[in-house]
Amino acid sequence: MDQHKHIENDKQYIGLTVNGGVAQPPSVNPYLKPRSRRPLPTSGELVEGILKGDVTTLSRAVTLVESLSPAHQTIAQEVIEKCLPYSGNSRRIGITGVPGAGKSTSIDAFGLHVLKDGGKLAVLAIDPSSERTKGSILGDKTRMERLAVHPSAFVRPSPSAGSLGGVARKTRETIVLCEAAGYNNIFVETVGVGQSETAVHSMVDFFLLIQLAGTGDELQGIKRGIMEMADGIVINKADGDNIDRARLAQAQFRSALHLFPPTLSGWMPEVLCYSGYYDLGIEEVWEMIDRYFNFVKENGYFEQKRREQARYWMFETINEKLRRHFYNDPEVEQMLREKEVRVLNNQQSSFTAARDVLDFYFSHH
Ligand code: GDP
Repeated sequence: MDQHKHIENDKQYIGLTVNGGVAQPPSVNPYLKPRSRRPLPTSGELVEGILKGDVTTLSRAVTLVESLSPAHQTIAQEVIEKCLPYSGNSRRIGITGVPGAGKSTSIDAFGLHVLKDGGKLAVLAIDPSSERTKGSILGDKTRMERLAVHPSAFVRPSPSAGSLGGVARKTRETIVLCEAAGYNNIFVETVGVGQSETAVHSMVDFFLLIQLAGTGDELQGIKRGIMEMADGIVINKADGDNIDRARLAQAQFRSALHLFPPTLSGWMPEVLCYSGYYDLGIEEVWEMIDRYFNFVKENGYFEQKRREQARYWMFETINEKLRRHFYNDPEVEQMLREKEVRVLNNQQSSFTAARDVLDFYFSHH
């Protein structure tokens, strides 16, 4: 590691130099975490701090929500339950786009715009890629530089543990805590490369798709499903000599959207151009989002969608708990390892192997 890049070599730690250090010897158990010296807070203490809008308490509570430890989860679930009556009073906006589309740059610009009128903003993320590749697509670089230091913004990276469903559920729960802490704008960012959009779509009121122009085949390579979910498509980097291409892409997206069936909300998704980097057209994007919220609050769709999302998350939570209960059973784990080998060696069919393991599980619970 380049020692000068270490966070503690920042100006604020002047006088200290932190070296990269040596790699851990393999004899050290990487899963053994040092015991926290701080005692666990009670759920009552956490809720009190959250309702006061205390950011340190909010961060601690979110850490417990993200934790896999059963003791942490017990407290986290109590906190969520107690915060629920104080939640719901926000605009939840999902933002997606492929890597490089300009999500961080744009969220920084949108965020500052939103905060101009006061209020508070929480920026959360869903990046399930970190589990598979052990490195996140959303990136380790400093993102959203201006929001990161804004006193009314709470920027939290994606929870990293577990399946997509698990990661998304933690983000969903974190929304509740943020709202209870007075955050009336919630952005949920996602990588824009797959299923994570569906998860984000199921927890936000408005879904914004960031696109780029200039490749000539804008409409290819975008999953139709993602376009169908979008309440607004915005073409970023409409600046300099890219403006004409952005306008062309805008026209293409508009005509493509006309071929889609009408949305459940009755809202006709809009397509706009803007530049996150040069702060151009940000206000227009936000006016569109305002129009959307007025529209769906008027026709009742806003409430209806939130109720349906609550139902969706009930089932998601059940599914996730069942899955975890099954896969964390030590005997099931052992049996699965054996069955895996048998299936790989063609000694047993996948169906009978699955049946054996499930039969065993159900007969023991
Ligand atoms: P992300 O991967 O989607 O979060 O994208 P980033 O926000 O990191 O942006 C990717 C690259 O595009 C960076 O080099 C940005 O400086 C650049 N970029 C972002 N927004 C704009 C814009 O509006 N105009 C131009 N010209 N470049 C931009």
